[in-house]
Amino acid sequence: MGKLTELRSQMDRCSKCGNCQAVCPLYLETKREPLVARGKIFLLDNLIDGRIGWSRRMGEIISLCLLCRTCEVNCPNGVQVASLVLAAREELARARGLSIWKKTAFHYLLTSSGNLNLLARLLYLYRWSGLQAVARKSGLLKALPWGLADKERLLPAVGRRAFARMVPPVIETPGEKRRIGYFYGCMTNHAYPATGLALLTVMRANGVTVVLPPQVCCGLPALASGDREAAVEQAGRNIRRFQEAGVDRVVVDCASCGSMLKGYGELVGTREAGEFSQKVRDVAEFLTEEVDFRPGAYPVEMTVTYHDPCHLKRHQGVHRAPRELLQAVPGLALREMERADRCCGSAGSFNLTHHQLSMAVGNHKTRSILATGAKAVVTGCPACRLQLAQGLEQAGSAVPVTHTLEILSRSYLGGKEKAAVPLVAEGEKGFLPVWGSGLQETGKSCRKINASIRFI
Ligand code: SF4
Ligand code: SF4
Repeated sequence: MGKLTELRSQMDRCSKCGNCQAVCPLYLETKREPLVARGKIFLLDNLIDGRIGWSRRMGEIISLCLLCRTCEVNCPNGVQVASLVLAAREELARARGLSIWKKTAFHYLLTSSGNLNLLARLLYLYRWSGLQAVARKSGLLKALPWGLADKERLLPAVGRRAFARMVPPVIETPGEKRRIGYFYGCMTNHAYPATGLALLTVMRANGVTVVLPPQVCCGLPALASGDREAAVEQAGRNIRRFQEAGVDRVVVDCASCGSMLKGYGELVGTREAGEFSQKVRDVAEFLTEEVDFRPGAYPVEMTVTYHDPCHLKRHQGVHRAPRELLQAVPGLALREMERADRCCGSAGSFNLTHHQLSMAVGNHKTRSILATGAKAVVTGCPACRLQLAQGLEQAGSAVPVTHTLEILSRSYLGGKEKAAVPLVAEGEKGFLPVWGSGLQETGKSCRKINASIRFI
């Protein structure tokens, strides 16, 4: 109980006031007290004192948390609920072990970009071969157990090539003012390469050279499942690679990865890890605070609404920056939805392990989005993007979900993106990103992508 016992002082701070009950998205759906922070703290207290053990039910209760931190920001005593839940999951994994699936994923798949590329390739073939369409139409998936039909619909539309394979390892910007390392994460790399290309467009327009060191998963899926060892291993690899790249900023376009990278110092506990974490910035933070940001000249005539990812607003305190960027885009109108920071229910793999509950939480978000009448939803987290898109699709809406960077990129490219072959994977609703001119100089890897992008 080492880690949990260390956090005992956190539990002792709980005055059982119930503020967390009033705001917990899971309680609001289930009305189950054990799912609330107060309920979990009560149970963990009993666990440490040996009055209860790691029963199956106790394990389920600890897995039922979105780590959204809504309770934390409403707690008058500052109880660090997310840290407690993570520590409890670590103890649970130690006491009862992880499934073979999780162990394989954390120790072999997510710790090696080669293995993840292979899986992405298989997913792409599953879709491209028509097998996915046949499986869905024939009702075959519905015959499978564990709600696999619903979970299969959450598979991202993986493209033919990963983002990192489309671009050279360094994208030099003439007259460079800043040089950053880009942590693109697994989702941008395999599911949303459009976001990665949009980042390159935006950085280039703002005088920033982008370096793409080899990298592996940020480690959040492992940590959130209690596998601290795998998370530390993944963190160590990323720290070494970015150190070797010699960059003084690590910029991230994924809220979840960003919060994880900012926590490497505490997770790994070394001086190098602490220094690495100090360099990490969410892309919206970086653009508003560290460069003289200039939006493009082309108007983007549309009304959008913005969804605050939990990992951006409550984990990193970033919520004004993306709005400032959007409001700077000529022609764009930002219409706020009700409770833009309400959790969408994604929470990493939560939408796979507790799909119905996850979608029930997300339904509130879908209704808020539709009530704005906005023509698109913008967010800063690819995991939220996937969840929001599924919620809207289930509600019969064609409103697309996109990343802040893809909107910014449009303001530099205007209508010219129509000249390009879309990189957005089939089935994904988003905007077509293209780079600006000048990239032809960057060498062999760049010539490879000329097949799929017509430069403008
Ligand atoms: S809001 Fe904080 S102090 Fe109040 S019951 Fe919840 S965890 Fe305890
Ligand atoms: S972190 Fe979110 S889901 Fe977890 S207990 Fe707190 S409010 Fe509920």
